[in-house]
Amino acid sequence: MKAMILRRTCSLNDCDEPLDCVDLPIPEPQEGEVLLRVSACGVCHTELDEIEGRTPPPSYPIVPGHEVVARVERCGRDATKLAEGQRVGVGWIHSSSGDEFENLNPEFCATGRDVNGGYAEFMTVLENYAYPIPDVYSDVEAAPLLCAGAVGYRALKLTNLRDGQRLGLTGFGGSAHIVLQLARHQFPNSPVFVFARDPAAQEFAKQLGADWAGDTTDRPPEQLDAIIDTTPVWKPIVEALACLAPNGRLVVNAIRKENDDIEELTRLSYPEHLWMEREIKTVANVTQFDIREFLPLAAEITIRSEVQLYSLEDANKALIDLKRKPVRGAKVLVIDGSLRT
Ligand SMILES: [Zn+2]
Repeated sequence: MKAMILRRTCSLNDCDEPLDCVDLPIPEPQEGEVLLRVSACGVCHTELDEIEGRTPPPSYPIVPGHEVVARVERCGRDATKLAEGQRVGVGWIHSSSGDEFENLNPEFCATGRDVNGGYAEFMTVLENYAYPIPDVYSDVEAAPLLCAGAVGYRALKLTNLRDGQRLGLTGFGGSAHIVLQLARHQFPNSPVFVFARDPAAQEFAKQLGADWAGDTTDRPPEQLDAIIDTTPVWKPIVEALACLAPNGRLVVNAIRKENDDIEELTRLSYPEHLWMEREIKTVANVTQFDIREFLPLAAEITIRSEVQLYSLEDANKALIDLKRKPVRGAKVLVIDGSLRT
């Protein structure tokens, strides 16, 4: 099968082709697993963290990719819950403890980092970690829901927002554009404020229903009760804390932060950014329950993910674009060329 593999970590500032296109044997499903024929795989910022060594794979080579849409090709021994041909998705957790804290379990195994993921024509997964995809979505539309969407759903839950309270989103890429639609549905009376450096992203946010959009350093007309940060850097965190109302909560939705601007943290002022019972909480990816709850909800409220398509062989280009260019919506690799978009 055709696959894109990572052989070593590197800086994407000076490496344009971190992945190699190779032929690998089709994997065998083990007990409780299914073999999947992959049709689409989202490109997530966490891939940049893996490639650049902020959350490196424990061994090489590895096939990245954890926003996988696929069809069950064959069921392994004792895998009885899914039918051959059924369309399913796979997210970041490939296997874990199976309880509500499985995302915090230090032993959990990550798709596309600890085991081979979806930048390939086939992969295997435990049947419990493969989720039915609602019919309303095409394969490529569904891919970003598996990580960007589901982790956004978890982040929004962790804000503890009540309807009518003011929500901020700093960074407006693959996850935030889904969270905005979700917030509009779950908290119809909550105004939403979006912070993004790129004027096109600000405009996109307004099109999707944001009440206000400005630069990362702009101040909204009101203080906000909760803000979700989806940026890879530190400056937006300091700026977001300055916009929080007393008792407000900042939820940081990132597996790792890049440290290029870490000196921004020295600007933290206790009275301006932290006092008045303001708090910071981080999101540690998603459990299987988040994904199982989110997918039907997304279908019910017809959340639309904006996607930019790349072929599997162009995975390096997708990663470099994600690293270096403003993000609009989500990037998805199309692995079966016959897909409808
Ligand atoms: Zn992800």
